[in-house]
Amino acid sequence: MKKSILAAVAAFAVVSALSLFAVAEDAKKPADKPATVYTVQCDSPCSFMVSGHDKKEVIAVVIEHAKTHHNMNLTEKDVEGMVKTTEASK
Ligand SMILES: [Zn+2]
Repeated sequence: MKKSILAAVAAFAVVSALSLFAVAEDAKKPADKPATVYTVQCDSPCSFMVSGHDKKEVIAVVIEHAKTHHNMNLTEKDVEGMVKTTEASK
């Protein structure tokens, strides 16, 4: 009688270990969410390039770069046309 209780406890322990493993696997790969990357490369001979997941942030960085390095006042719309969108669908 005592033996079968131990067996049941052991089986439960295995099941919880497996579900913990499954949770860890899910956390490891957020593969279900396609990560969109926005990239802008400066057309000038300068090698400036910025990329990120936040389009607004990328645009802000480009506007700042244009102002400080090229003395250009770009608007969000100007930069929007330069943004390359890459969907990492994996
Ligand atoms: Zn530049």
